[in-house]
Amino acid sequence: MNAAQFRKHGKEVIDAIADYYENLDNISPVPNVKSGYLYKLVPDEAPENPESFETVKADIETKIMPGMTHWQSGNFFAWYPSSSSFPSIIGDMYSSMFSIVGFSWISSLAATELETVVMDWLGKLLGLDKRFLAINEDGTENKGGGAIQTTASGAMVTMIATARDRFLESLTMQQAIGEDDVARLRPRFVAYFSDQTHSSGEKAANVIGCKARILPSNDDFSLTKEVLMAAVEQDKKSGLIPFFVCGTFGTTNTAAIDDIPGIADVAADNNMWLHIDAAYAGGALVCPEFRPLASGIERADSISINAHKWLLTNFDCSALWVADSTHLVNSMGIRREYLPRVKGDTSFVKDYRDWQIPLGRRFRALKLWFVMRMYGASGIRAHIREHVIQAKWLEERLLADGRFEIMAPVVFGLVVFRIKPTALSEHDRADKDVINKANIDLAELINNEGRVFILSTMLKGKVALRATIGAVHGSLKNVEVLLTVLQKHFAAAINHELV
Ligand code: PLP
Repeated sequence: MNAAQFRKHGKEVIDAIADYYENLDNISPVPNVKSGYLYKLVPDEAPENPESFETVKADIETKIMPGMTHWQSGNFFAWYPSSSSFPSIIGDMYSSMFSIVGFSWISSLAATELETVVMDWLGKLLGLDKRFLAINEDGTENKGGGAIQTTASGAMVTMIATARDRFLESLTMQQAIGEDDVARLRPRFVAYFSDQTHSSGEKAANVIGCKARILPSNDDFSLTKEVLMAAVEQDKKSGLIPFFVCGTFGTTNTAAIDDIPGIADVAADNNMWLHIDAAYAGGALVCPEFRPLASGIERADSISINAHKWLLTNFDCSALWVADSTHLVNSMGIRREYLPRVKGDTSFVKDYRDWQIPLGRRFRALKLWFVMRMYGASGIRAHIREHVIQAKWLEERLLADGRFEIMAPVVFGLVVFRIKPTALSEHDRADKDVINKANIDLAELINNEGRVFILSTMLKGKVALRATIGAVHGSLKNVEVLLTVLQKHFAAAINHELV
């Protein structure tokens, strides 16, 4: 494809993308195909000779579309949202245009500096403490700063490895321990999570080979200071080494908020790294009214917030801030001749490869820059507030219906609910498995119909339904559809009609 052909076909693709977004309400968010459907539709091998753009484009419609789950549909209520907005898509197009591998300042100056700028912009927009910013008010460099990671899971692994290395370094300084001692100590390292922490916590602990202590959350699904403190004390008595704790602002199941000030106390008393996973709900901090809920995050060592979840930016764009980048760079930094560093004056020079696990990195700052500039702070705030209003609307309607109960406070865009046991027959409501089955069936009946896509989860033995409202291109009309569909399938769910 030459530039002239790209100009023509590129414009056709832009039209196709705009059409797609305009028609999202008319297609089912859930695909209706069986596993392996695609293998039967495409050849076994890549073509020997070039195919035309038209042929490939036609296959998008006939072969790919039928198997797509439409995350951007307003009728997609399943997992936390994965944002997509037109300004972000445009930013990503420019990123594809440059197609850099921006691992260091030398390898991509503007990309590096724009990333520093947008991470500070976003940090300020979210009201983060100035410890997390790269540039001080007086224009001097700070120890803190942010870097865009692929995902919150990647951020978690990066932070747990950094935390381990900071702890080892402090031990080395205090006790002059050698490499053998370090190898002996490593398996005794223990990281703390709650039973509501995202699975990426446990995975990160597995990746670095430390113990993961999964602590029970309280009735509000939060990790408390008391539970953490007791576990840390116990583990220390057993000869283990507590070094990392993750506090969550907006858990995956219910958007619960851990006792962050309490967890910060325990972390400080025990020289533990405090990481805040605010992957989803952190986006709400652009609105000042949500900030009191996040009290204590200013004491964290690191915070991650997915701009690709609730902040209008296309996947992937996971923002990670640290209060002191020295530890991160010490842990992730590695030297090779083919990775030259700036010599002489290194002020304001960042090599972002030292802020993450992989070497290469896309120019992700561009899409975030487009989003922040083209929506403005006011537009981003309005986006968040609109979803919260819609979630509250759904909560009110479910309560007014009388046959549902809300399982967790509706604070952000997530509504967690289930069929009220009293809506089942007297015989059925006595059996918690039957109550659970009715809720699982309700989700399945809804998803089988395919107008909306919803998720079920398990909360302390009770099956609940999760409806996340966060689609950039959705509206209250989609939430109304969800309510109608819920009510439509209710009788079939409680009467065990699903076979
Ligand atoms: N943390 C929380 C609280 C989440 O809800 C999720 C995903 O929903 C993640 C982390 C993982 O996000 P990512 O896909 O960016 O790794």
